[in-house]
Amino acid sequence: MRNLLNGPEWLVEHVGWDPLEASVWETRFTVGNGYLGTRGTVEEGHRGQLSGTYLNGVYDSHDSPVIDLVNVPDWTMLEIYVEGVRMDVHTCVVEEHRRALDLRQGVLWRSTIFRDPAGRRTRLETLRFASMAEREVCAMRAIITVENHSSTVSVHSGIDGHRRNLDRLPAYPGGTDFHPEVKWEKWAFSKHLDELRREVDDDVLYLQMRTISSGIAIGVAAQTTFSAEPIQRDEHQGYEQMVQRAVFSLAEGQPLQIDKCAVLLTSRNSGADMPEDREGIESEQGAEALRRVRAASADGVDAVLERSRATWESMWHDCDCEVVGDPEAALAVRFGIYHLLIAANGDDPTVNIGAKSLSGEGYRGHVFWDTEIFMLPFFIYTQPQTARALLGYRHHTLPGARERSREAGTGGARYAWESADTGREECPAWTVDGVNRIWARDEEVHVSADVVFGLESYLSATGDSDFVRDVGSEILFETSRFWVDRVTADDEGGYSLNQVMGPDEFHSHVDNNAFTNYLARWQLQQAVQTYTWLKAEYPDFLQDLSTKISLDPAEPGRWQEVAEGLSLSKRPDGLIEQFDGYFDREDIPITSWDENSMPQYPEGYHHFNLEETMLLKQPDVVMLPFMFPDDFTEDEKRVNFEFYEARTLHKSSLSSGIHAIMGLVVGDRERASQYFRRSAFVDLHDNQGNTDEGMHIASAAGTWQILVAGFAGFRVMSGRMTFSPWLPDEWSGLRFRMRWHGHSVAVDVGREHSTFRLDAPEGHVEEIDVYGEAVRLPAGEDVSVARRD
Ligand code: BGC
Repeated sequence: MRNLLNGPEWLVEHVGWDPLEASVWETRFTVGNGYLGTRGTVEEGHRGQLSGTYLNGVYDSHDSPVIDLVNVPDWTMLEIYVEGVRMDVHTCVVEEHRRALDLRQGVLWRSTIFRDPAGRRTRLETLRFASMAEREVCAMRAIITVENHSSTVSVHSGIDGHRRNLDRLPAYPGGTDFHPEVKWEKWAFSKHLDELRREVDDDVLYLQMRTISSGIAIGVAAQTTFSAEPIQRDEHQGYEQMVQRAVFSLAEGQPLQIDKCAVLLTSRNSGADMPEDREGIESEQGAEALRRVRAASADGVDAVLERSRATWESMWHDCDCEVVGDPEAALAVRFGIYHLLIAANGDDPTVNIGAKSLSGEGYRGHVFWDTEIFMLPFFIYTQPQTARALLGYRHHTLPGARERSREAGTGGARYAWESADTGREECPAWTVDGVNRIWARDEEVHVSADVVFGLESYLSATGDSDFVRDVGSEILFETSRFWVDRVTADDEGGYSLNQVMGPDEFHSHVDNNAFTNYLARWQLQQAVQTYTWLKAEYPDFLQDLSTKISLDPAEPGRWQEVAEGLSLSKRPDGLIEQFDGYFDREDIPITSWDENSMPQYPEGYHHFNLEETMLLKQPDVVMLPFMFPDDFTEDEKRVNFEFYEARTLHKSSLSSGIHAIMGLVVGDRERASQYFRRSAFVDLHDNQGNTDEGMHIASAAGTWQILVAGFAGFRVMSGRMTFSPWLPDEWSGLRFRMRWHGHSVAVDVGREHSTFRLDAPEGHVEEIDVYGEAVRLPAGEDVSVARRD
C-alpha cells in the first residue's frame, strides 16, 4: 500500500516505536474532515494511548465540571491474534514500525512487523482516512502477512463505544511527572455516552449511543469485508462494544486484506425538540447508517478513497502554500495547512474550530478568539465559503452571547471567552487544581470585537455585503449594545473600560487596556457605518431587524459617542501604554531561554504571579499595528515592537506568528525568521510541550499568515491588495493563491521577481499595489515586479 502514497514533499513520516512520543504522534497523525477527527492511535491500541474520535459540535457536560467535546465511539478498532497471541507492542517485539501521513490525500499509512514470543513474524499494514467527499464516511484497509509461518489468524474488527473524556489530573505534589505509559491512567475521566441500541445485520455492526446531558444520538455503523473466506466467524457483544470476529488459516507469505468502512451520524441539528421527534430520528438514524455503510462498502475502499482524493486535490489547488528551496519548512507549512483543512466544516454554519481542532481534548474542544484573529484569514483567502460558515457559527451562538451579557449585567451580546455548542460561557472559573482563578472568563471581553473584526475582514476580501447585512449586522448591533453598557463614564466626558484583561493574560483587572479600547472603539464605528448603510440601502431590512431586536434609532448615536470617548494612551515617541499604570510595573529582564530558544520564566515566577511586572504572555499592544496597519506610522510600529517584544515570554503558541510578521514589518528579519520557525514547527517539534493534547491549530494558521502577510507582505490597505515580498536567503521561492472578490490571484515570489496572475473572466482587471506602487493585473496575464529591498 506504500505505493499509494505521494512523494516525500507530502509525507510526514515516523519510524520506530517510542512509547514516550506515542501520544504526540497520535495528535500529528489525526485524520479528519471538519465533521470528525480521529487521532492517529495504532488500531490495536497500546498502553498510555490517548485515542479519540471527535465529532464537530458534539459536546456534553454530564459528569464533568466543564463541557467537553465528546470522545465518541471508535470506528478504527482492529485486533489481530496469531495462534491466540495478540499483535501489539506489549505482547510482541516490534521489529519494524513505520508510519506516514500523506497530507495531499489525507491518508494515514502504517506498516509494523511484530515478532511474537514463538518467533513468528507478522506484518500489519493499514491505511485509513476520513472521506473529504462524504464527511460521515471513514474507511480503512489492512493487510496482514504472516512472514515466516503458517498460522491461524483471528481478526477482531469492531466499534468501541466504551469511551471516556479526560477530566482532570488529581492533585499530586508539585513537579510530579508520570511516565507517558501511565500518565493518562492517573486522570479522572468523564462518561458522556449511554448506549441506546445495537444491531448486527449480516456483516454490518451498528452501535448507537446518546450523549447524556445534551441528548445527541450518535450512530456508528461499520462493515468489514475480507479478501478470503473465514473458516469461522461470529459476533462478540461486550459492554459498550461490538466486535465481528473472523478466523483464517493463512499460509506463509499469503496476505489477507481487510476492508472496513464506517459511517458516523449524529442527530445534531435534527430539530428534535420533543421526545417523540427524538425517538423517530433515533430509529431513522440506524436505517440511514446501515444503508450508507453498505453503499460505501459496495463501492469499495478504493472508490471511497478516490472520491475523497479528488476533493483533497481541489482543496490543495486553492490552499497550498509552497515554500521553495527549504523542504523541511515546506513540509511543516503543508502539515499546518492539512490540519486546518481537516479542522473546518464549511458546510455547517453551526460549528467552529476549537483551539486544538478535532485532534485532541486540550481546551475541551472550546472555541476562542483564535478563530477570527488567527485562523479566519487563511479561510477567507483560500476558502471563503468556509470562512462564511465559521462566521455563521457566531450568528448561530448569538442567543448564548446575549445570555452571557445579561449574566454580567450588560445588554446586547457578549461573546464567551470559551464557547462550545450554544455560545454560553464555558471557560472554567478556576484552574483544575482549584488554586488559581481564571480571570479570562470574566475579563477578556475583547473577543466580541474580535468577532466583528473577522466579519469585516471577510467583507473586505469578498465584498459579500449580503452576508454582512443578513448575518453580520445583528452581531454588530448586539455587541455594540454590550460595549456601551460595559464602559464607565469619566468626569471629562470620556469613557473607560475597567477591570478587563487584554490578550496578555498575565495582567488581570486592568483599566483601559489599549487593545480592548481600540477594538471596542473601532467596532462601535463599524456598527454606526453599517447602520447608516442599511438605512440608506435596505431600509425595510433595517426596520425588520430593528423590530426583531428592539433597536431604537437613537442607539447608533450613543455608539458613536462612546467610540469617541474611548482613548488610547500614547507617549510622544509613539509608545502605547498597554493599560493604565503599566509603565509603573516592575521591569524584570528575561535572562534565560530553553533549548528551543523560547524565553523562560524568571526565577520564582509563573503564569499566575506576573501581575506586578511588565512581562507579557503574548503580544497585546503589538496586535494593534498587526490588525490595523493603516492606522500606525512605521515609527510607531517599530517603537512598540521593540519595547514589547523584549518583554514577551511567548507562553502562548499564538505569539510567534504575530512577532514574525511584525518583525518583518519593522525590518527585523533575523528575529522574524526565528519566529517563523518556532511557529511552523510548534507541533512537529512539540516546542510548547503539549502537542499530545492536540494541535496548536491557530499557530498553524499563524504560520500561513507569516508567509502571506509576512514574507509576501500582503495587506489590505485602503481596500486594495498590497504586497511587499521578501524572502529569507535560504528560500528560492514562495507560491500561493488567494481568493479576492470572487476571483483568484496566484502569487509566485521569486528571488529576483514576484509574479502575479489574476484568474478571472477575460477583460477583468484588478489594481494591486506592490512595494507601494500601483500595478495593473489584467485577467490571465502574468505580471512580474522586480524585487526591491
Ligand atoms: C492564550 C489565548 C488563546 C488560548 C487558546 C491561551 O493560552 O493566551 O490567547 O486564545 O490559549 O489558544
